[in-house]
Amino acid sequence: MNNQKFFLDVEGQLEKIVIALRIKPEVLQELKQPHRLIKFQIPVLMDNGKKKIFFGFRSQHNNILGPYKGGIRFTPKISEDEVKALSMLMTWKCSLAGLPFGGAKGGVVVDPLKLSRKELERISRGYVKGVFPCIGPDLDIPAPDINTNPQIMAWMVDEYSRLKGEDTPAAFTGKPLNQWGLEGRKEATGYGGVVILNKLREIFDFQPKETTLAIQGFGNVGSSFAHFAFQEGYKILAISEKEGGIYVEKGLNPEETLRCKEKNGKIAGCYCVGSVCDLSFGKRITNEELLEMEVDVLVPAAIENVITKENAPRVRAKYIIAMANGPITSEARTILEKKDILVVPDILSNAGGVTASYFEWLQCKEKARWEKEKTFRKLRQRLGQSFNRVWNLAQKEKVTIEKAAYILAVSRVAEAMKQN
Ligand code: NAD
Repeated sequence: MNNQKFFLDVEGQLEKIVIALRIKPEVLQELKQPHRLIKFQIPVLMDNGKKKIFFGFRSQHNNILGPYKGGIRFTPKISEDEVKALSMLMTWKCSLAGLPFGGAKGGVVVDPLKLSRKELERISRGYVKGVFPCIGPDLDIPAPDINTNPQIMAWMVDEYSRLKGEDTPAAFTGKPLNQWGLEGRKEATGYGGVVILNKLREIFDFQPKETTLAIQGFGNVGSSFAHFAFQEGYKILAISEKEGGIYVEKGLNPEETLRCKEKNGKIAGCYCVGSVCDLSFGKRITNEELLEMEVDVLVPAAIENVITKENAPRVRAKYIIAMANGPITSEARTILEKKDILVVPDILSNAGGVTASYFEWLQCKEKARWEKEKTFRKLRQRLGQSFNRVWNLAQKEKVTIEKAAYILAVSRVAEAMKQN
């Protein structure tokens, strides 16, 4: 699945909503493309003494609701189309969550696993040099995403402050705790996903211990989703990472699995039940098998475009909570709808991350310190309210949760554009 298809899917989704809402064509014209798309060179001195050129991107989709906001990915396959699509999704996500932000996304074409720590630091600082005039605490505030983390944000904010000539912690979010990071930011996206899972539980009246889950992706989002779902008593049958997954019929303990993964470098063989990890408890599965597994809730929490028209007919979950950005193609969405599988879209279910980033930004601006309990309480309130608004609209208009979420998100942006 290529990135152009991803962008066309995201753009097509917007077109459908704009037509349904009878929004003026000039608004659609502006929203179909980012306000600004930057592609720039990042020259990096490698450890072997030679200079190598990397490419960076930043897409700033729309800022009618506030400064652009969005993560930075370090992946070998990032492209213009990918950052354009993801920045548009960020606009809808911030709008739906009622945040004073617009949408952005960025990245560097690089495999960070092939770099030394020093090289990674130079690329991170080089990225900031490349976008410096276009970012800032009231202009565009980046955050971590795939393969980027608080350490990388620390280098970036340091470089930004150096170029600016003043300490500017509000220019980035997802920073380390001792550098104006927010307690709970790291876990916030996964935590928010479990808030949404619990909303479904209230509506459909299911019991956590009888509710089975399969989670694709065991990085930041997937592992924290698994952690909070396990604490709530849900039964996690399968998890996976890029190299493949594991299945434990009795239900696995994600905390022990994470410890085992940290020790062994991979989840293969980490079949942990209770506090014991034993090879006889489980088996290895592929990512394809995980997506098609008979579970109550499927949680794609890795990358985009994993549920496609090819595998959607074989998906057997009753509910899908989209935690990755764009994990389901447009054709697959139609198939899932026909199969009566309830899909909670990414712009609603993974909004915990950007909402906590907003708290971190506020904390930096106010020079205050938020405690984790405050972050989680505010996340529960905000995400719970967002879910209720979407659910009520879906019931009233007899549309899918996804369509209701897009109606709310796009109309808030279009309304604000009308007033300008
Ligand atoms: P991460 O880099 O920490 O983890 C990614 C995980 O996906 C890893 O376990 C990796 O092994 C797995 N993976 C990568 N390629 C895969 C493939 N081809 N098949 C199956 N698994 C694969 O990234 P993350 O921060 O957890 O982000 C995951 C998703 O959630 C992304 O779509 C990201 O944009 C989205 N997201 C992240 C945040 C956040 O706060 N980090 C917020 C909102 C949305």
